[in-house]
This record gives sequence, C-alpha cells and structure tokens, in this order.
Amino acid sequence: MKIGILGAGQLGRMLALAGYPLGMHFRFFDPAPNSPADPLAENVTADYMNTYALDRFANGLDVVTYEFENVPVEAVRYLERSVPVYPPPIALEKGQDRFVEKSFLHELGIPVPQFGIETKSISFPSVVKTRRMGYDGKGQAVLSSKDDIRDQAVSELLTHDDLIVEEFIPFDRELSIIGVRNKSGESVFYPLIENRHRDGILRESLVTGQIPSDLQRQAEEYAKKVMDALNYVGVLAIEFFEKDGRLVANEMAPRVHNSGHWTIDGAVTSQFENHLRAVSDAPLGSTNPLGVCAMVNLIGNVPDAKSILEIEGAHLHLYGKEPKPKRKLGHVTFVENDVQALQKKLDRIEEIHHDS
Ligand code: AMP
Repeated sequence: MKIGILGAGQLGRMLALAGYPLGMHFRFFDPAPNSPADPLAENVTADYMNTYALDRFANGLDVVTYEFENVPVEAVRYLERSVPVYPPPIALEKGQDRFVEKSFLHELGIPVPQFGIETKSISFPSVVKTRRMGYDGKGQAVLSSKDDIRDQAVSELLTHDDLIVEEFIPFDRELSIIGVRNKSGESVFYPLIENRHRDGILRESLVTGQIPSDLQRQAEEYAKKVMDALNYVGVLAIEFFEKDGRLVANEMAPRVHNSGHWTIDGAVTSQFENHLRAVSDAPLGSTNPLGVCAMVNLIGNVPDAKSILEIEGAHLHLYGKEPKPKRKLGHVTFVENDVQALQKKLDRIEEIHHDS
C-alpha cells in the first residue's frame, strides 16, 4: 500500500511514523523544502497547482490523503481523476472558509456562535476573523468595545474584505472530539479532549476520564452528523466551546489534529494509525485511552531533551523544525494512572519549558 500525503509537516511525519509498522509506504507533496516529513519519504517539492508535479506525485499511489486543510481544492480534484482521495474534497471545501463552515454546521443543527459577514454594525464583544487561511489565532481579534477598533492590528484586520464576525462565547472550557469513519460508514470516537489555548495557540490537551457521558454522546452525535453528511473517510476533528454544559462548535478540521497527539502514546490506536486504517479501507482500531493523559506542545523553543527525558514516563516527540516564536516544534505526552500523578508531571514540564 503506497499512500500519498499532501503536506509534509509534522502531521505528515507522524502519519508516516504510524504507517511504517503496518507495512505502508509514503510519498509527500509540499511546496516547501526541508519539511518535517522529509527524512521519512520522498517529497515532491512543487507548487500545488503544478499539474506535472501532481502527476509525478500520483504515479503508483494507491490512495492520496492530506495533512493540511488549505491545500487548493482544485489540486485535490485534479488528483482525484487518477487516484482515490480521502477524506473527500467536499470536506476541504466546507472547512476552508469559516463562513461556509459555520453555515454548514448550522444547517446540520449543530450549535455555533452567531455569525455574519457584515462588519459595519459589529456588536460587542465579538471576534473578527479572516474567512480563509487563519490558524493558531492568526488573522483574528477579539473586540471587547468600540475602542478596540482604534487598535492598529484590529484596524488593519478590518481592511480585509473576507471577514467573518462571530459572537464572543465566554466559554467555561474548550473541548474537541476526534472521530474516524471508514468507507462502510462505521465510525469510532476518542474521548472528548480538554484543550487549553494561549494567544489562540493550543498549549495543552488533557484526557482525564472526567467528561460527563451526555456531553460525550452529544459531541459524538454532532461529529457523526458531519461525517455522514460528507460521506467522510478518515479522521475528523471538531473544536467546541463548552458553556453551561452545552457544546457550541467553533471549527472542524478534516485531518488528524493537534489535540489528538496524546493518542500516539495514550490510546490503544493512535489517531494517525486510525486515519491510515480508514483511508486504506482496513478495520478501525480501538480508541480507548490507556490511562489519564496529557499532551503539552513545545512552542517557540525546545528545552534540552535530557531535561524532559529524565521525567519518568515522558514521551518526547520532536518535529525537526527550526525554532521560531509561536512555532509548534514538538510535544510531550504523559500517560498516568490518576490525575494527581499527571498534574505532578505537568508541573515539572512547566518548570523547564516556557513557550516563546
Ligand atoms: P480559531 O482559530 O477559530 O480556532 O480560534 C482560536 C482560539 O480563539 C479558540 O481556540 C478560542 O480560544 C478563541 N476563540 C475563537 N473564536 C471564539 C469565539 N467566538 N468566542 C470566544 N473565543 C473564541
């Protein structure tokens, strides 16, 4: 089985790392040279719209998937003529534009913050975001009052002509669900993940077994609705705000997701392996956690590896990227028996690592 992956970032790297034990082979496509997945397999380095390069990439592949949701849909549709592509390109179409995405979720009956594309009559507090290409808090601003409009970054953002304005949700916490669906429509779900962000970037994900079962059921029902509507194949993540025990969807990602990295060490089957199983039409694996788990992102800089590895039970994953402020360079996972033991490990990481 030879799998082509569009995007050769850390998600692609971890997909390949999960697929080699299953006897799979990989080829990547990424416009950028020296990507995290480069040491693992051949990488066709070209623009996504270069059809000659896309043909070279597709030659001999059994299936194509992607690790990056902003791959041009035209490129994926082009590839689809010669090789099966999963998840289906319609999932990219729905997910690439925040207005299309929120409209789609709303039409399925999934609660979303109130939203619109009219920036002239903003009510406060609101969140203004670019409709396309925003990630990790980039291209967005929270407007608490009229005064915030005078802020330079905000007034610059407001000059964009493709904005979405959302109701600000004073959430109790942020949660995400990761589901996997195969070709025959069977789907499985990981436990809801509790996510802590700072400056719009995911810092920490926790799976502690303390999520109420009705919340889990609700999240699974929403994710299943999305996956069934798209005839989805692969891993899908949906990020939610929890407010007063209710879920409000923020966004979906038609790919493996940062909040699911704990599954490499902390679940019977990782999200990466399950994605590969789904797109290669193999049986899906168990999503059961192996304990209480935490994943901490290493952002901007990486502490000395030894200082992490000397913490008992620390699983270190580095992506081979050049340090740069706000860049995700790696993560550390812990799988423990109870929350107290987990918290101790998190405190140790806090002592040695400070994001930049
Ligand atoms: P996003 O790029 O949409 O995932 O947003 C990044 C982060 O900004 C989220 O994880 C939240 O912490 C915060 N955020 C985004 N949209 C809203 C909203 N409508 N209300 C409150 N916080 C938000």
